Amino acid sequence: MTSQTVSDNHVIQIHYSLHLGDSEVIDSSREREPLVYLHGASNIVPGLERQITDKAVGEKFSAVVPAAEGYGETDGATPQPVDRNNFPEGVELDAGMAFQAEGPDGEDLTLWIHEVQDDQVFVATHHPLAGKDLHFDIEVIGIRAATEDEVAHGHPHGPDGDQVH
Ligand code: ZN
Repeated sequence: MTSQTVSDNHVIQIHYSLHLGDSEVIDSSREREPLVYLHGASNIVPGLERQITDKAVGEKFSAVVPAAEGYGETDGATPQPVDRNNFPEGVELDAGMAFQAEGPDGEDLTLWIHEVQDDQVFVATHHPLAGKDLHFDIEVIGIRAATEDEVAHGHPHGPDGDQVH
């Protein structure tokens, strides 16, 4: 039996936790289901994808991802408040979510949510973790070959590949 390692066109399950260098965890999958993603399809930040490559199920490791290979550099703009009414109803808004908007000259603009305060949503054109070096603790939970559909769609169809969308 050959042991499987992480490579392109495989659906990977990982547990992760994230801190910014001070060990204070700001995000973790540990209390949830593992994160499921399609390797080689830019589902996760490039520096993390690169460092998971060739790892095996059960491996635990730390990965430091510089900002340039994470969420990019910050453009320095202060997040601006937008009325909650401008966002779709019934969608839970959270820091790190992205929305497409129209810029002043009609151009497409990606706006990232930085903070939600009551009926005010603070957005900016950079990700809230832009400019930050990301410190991940990773455990590889599962590896399986992706289906043709998953490869064509560029995302996994759930842990077992049966959640078609
Ligand atoms: Zn799909």
